[in-house]
Amino acid sequence: ATPAATMVGTTIGARNGVLFKGGDVLETVRDVDTVVFDKTGTLTEGEMELTDVEVVGAAADGGAPETAADGGALREAPELTEEYVLELAASAESGSEHPLAQAIVEGARERGIDVADAEEFENVPGHGVRATTPHGEVLVGNRKLLEDEGVDTAPAEEQMNRLEREGKTAMLVGVRDTGDEFRLAGVVADADTVKESAVAAVSGLRERGLDVWMITGDNERTARAVAEEVGIDPENVMAGVLPDEKAEALEDIQSDGTRAMMVGDGVNDAPALATAAVGCAIGSGTDVAIEAADVTLLRDDPADVLKAIRISAATLQKIK
Ligand code: ADP
Ligand code: MG
Repeated sequence: ATPAATMVGTTIGARNGVLFKGGDVLETVRDVDTVVFDKTGTLTEGEMELTDVEVVGAAADGGAPETAADGGALREAPELTEEYVLELAASAESGSEHPLAQAIVEGARERGIDVADAEEFENVPGHGVRATTPHGEVLVGNRKLLEDEGVDTAPAEEQMNRLEREGKTAMLVGVRDTGDEFRLAGVVADADTVKESAVAAVSGLRERGLDVWMITGDNERTARAVAEEVGIDPENVMAGVLPDEKAEALEDIQSDGTRAMMVGDGVNDAPALATAAVGCAIGSGTDVAIEAADVTLLRDDPADVLKAIRISAATLQKIK
């Protein structure tokens, strides 16, 4: 492209809240054939809310919780109630800044629970948290987190399944309150809402002939429910991708010559943004994400991805 074309494209972009980092970027954007969206905070609002608290084994209709069948050390353990499950989860999450954690703590406070600060706290990236609370050691997170501690998560599977099919992020709560072993106490779930313009963004990109993907650390079932809501093919969903695996996933997608634009907002996404042919930071994106990006969308609107592609195609075509 001529310097003049580049200037026009860059200016039109800026006027539309689309910042191209340098003239070469305009050309790379035009050649993109695939768009990979991060889920949380990009396709969704990224504002989690606590929606469910359940005792493990509680009937789907919300009936009375069952007590652990195998007595022993459990006999003296506090009775499992929804309030106890939430108190454990909130206390453990009080040290975490993860949006999932903050929603649990806030939700607990709103329900009148006095949330005790965790005494010791460990973040297990992509899996959850482990913390020492006044009730003992607590785990809150995905199946892997609890299974790694030898906890059988099967008794909560039906509940987890149901919540995930609703597109919620369901988390297991385990506690070592009296015995030596962790026991499965319950399940909590947070939900996020899909951004209104995400549906139009995906359909617009697909109409243009672009392949649209979604990548997330969240589990497969939740990811698919969200993908379905926004119109992304289930085969184009990469779920359970750990923060430091996102860049590798991008490499995989691009290994056959695919030129991908990765759209993300979080710190976790920076390496993937840098790996993609075009990295695109969206909206309230973190400084790290913006630094790693080639394109920054000032508005928090996934439909602006389409705008960026249109602007680059149009300006380069006209003036060539
Ligand atoms: P995302 O890619 O959606 O930002 P993360 O990589 O941060 O997700 O987390 C992946 C999964 O790990 C979450 O869906 C959740 O199951 C679990 N997880 C991560 N952090 C926490 C936390 N603080 N509390 C409970 N679960 C967590
Ligand atoms: Mg994220």
